[in-house]
Amino acid sequence: VAGLEARDVVVRYKDVTAVDGVSLHLQPGHVLALLGPSGSGKSTLLRAIAGLAKLDAGSIHWNGEDLSAVKVHKRNFGFVFQDGQLFPNLNVGRNVAYGLGKWQGSRQDRVAEMLELVGLAGYEKRKTTELSGGEAQRIALARSLAPSPRALLLDEPLSALDTGLRRHLAGEVSRILREVGTTAIYVTHDQEESSMVGDTVGVIVDGRLLQRAEPDELWRQP
Ligand code: ADP
Ligand code: ADP
Repeated sequence: VAGLEARDVVVRYKDVTAVDGVSLHLQPGHVLALLGPSGSGKSTLLRAIAGLAKLDAGSIHWNGEDLSAVKVHKRNFGFVFQDGQLFPNLNVGRNVAYGLGKWQGSRQDRVAEMLELVGLAGYEKRKTTELSGGEAQRIALARSLAPSPRALLLDEPLSALDTGLRRHLAGEVSRILREVGTTAIYVTHDQEESSMVGDTVGVIVDGRLLQRAEPDELWRQP
């Protein structure tokens, strides 16, 4: 099976079952928005896919390959979290270049290309501490996409921003993911954000994936 697959994934913390038997499949290039209330297990599922949370049952596959024995950094996934992920002591260019270890070609060109992609061309020498919240998340996105990850995992990347900016950036993130053509899972508790970004939206409640549909289908009035 091509793309990213989770099969019957279960993750428990002591007596809490955070992820309770979730299966999903993303074709390459597909963007899935995972929508659910706080505490529903979205973050844990994402961490399980990333290899950051131990599975109590089930498995994660990429193009059919079982990733169970593959270490986090070898899975070649990109991450974007809510905030606080840029290295404050490195400038923007160095932050974006971070992770370009074995990049074939000019690192400087790749950094410039990524900054242009996220609408911040020429920001290389800026200090990360002087960026706005929205700019910082654009840079985090540029950094995660720079090494061409096989899939991108985003955990509430816009949640720390105010509503107006969040709407604007959700549109931007959607454009950027399509432009790159990356496979992605985008976790959010915001319904509007989920339908702006996702090709499909999956609804998670109490660690179970209840429903998955195209945004129009899911929110269509009866
Ligand atoms: P969401 O991302 O939807 O807010 P989480 O995956 O963070 O949900 O949490 C799912 C459930 O697992 C919640 O009941 C939460 O309290 C619990 N949980 C999450 N992380 C831990 C942890 N490290 N230790 C114990 N319980 C946890
Ligand atoms: P300087 O601040 O010394 O002028 P730059 O910030 O312009 O250097 O960085 C030049 C390039 O060096 C960056 O674009 C990047 O490719 C590389 N580089 C420097 N430090 C790092 C680092 N810690 N991680 C990844 N790449 C780095």
